[in-house]
Amino acid sequence: MPSFRHRLTRAQQRIYDRSEATSAIPLRPTSRLLAAVRALPGILLSADRPRIEVVSQAIADEICAVLRVAPLRVTVSQTRPSNARGELHGLYTPPHAGRRATIQVWMMTAKRGQVVAFKAYLRTLLHEICHHLDYQLLRLPDSFHTDGFYRRESSLFHQIGGNTAARNPTAGRAAPQGGNATRATLQ
Ligand SMILES: [Zn+2]
Repeated sequence: MPSFRHRLTRAQQRIYDRSEATSAIPLRPTSRLLAAVRALPGILLSADRPRIEVVSQAIADEICAVLRVAPLRVTVSQTRPSNARGELHGLYTPPHAGRRATIQVWMMTAKRGQVVAFKAYLRTLLHEICHHLDYQLLRLPDSFHTDGFYRRESSLFHQIGGNTAARNPTAGRAAPQGGNATRATLQ
């Protein structure tokens, strides 16, 4: 996106180039992380919002723990906000005023009112996690949508078993067990 880069200040261009130069986030997934990703397709099909939120939170928790960055809170909402330009898939809010960073994702498409497909949903979640990692892991003062950013998103998707889960989804009941599961509440 060179035209976008030219509109940035010199300092921002340096951040942009650092983002562009980092194409992977090496990560050794835990068994809990792999299990959560495997369970996600079936849980999405159930359209059970609290369960989708629990498994999404587990994925974010595991990635943050493995990479030793501050945890974040994931909120799953129903239908994507939309306007003439399209639908909002996810939203990342950095930590502020002593509150942890938050990710909001939506589980239903606005256009068809259907549950978001597994790959698209997981990529959205990872996309927002990558914004968090730009600040918390790569220590970038800004988080840009560079080609490097999208390569980092893809590197996470592959390492945590996104493709395998898409091919061999387990039954929706195989949700990861954990303390969070019992505390899932409707917002
Ligand atoms: Zn983004």
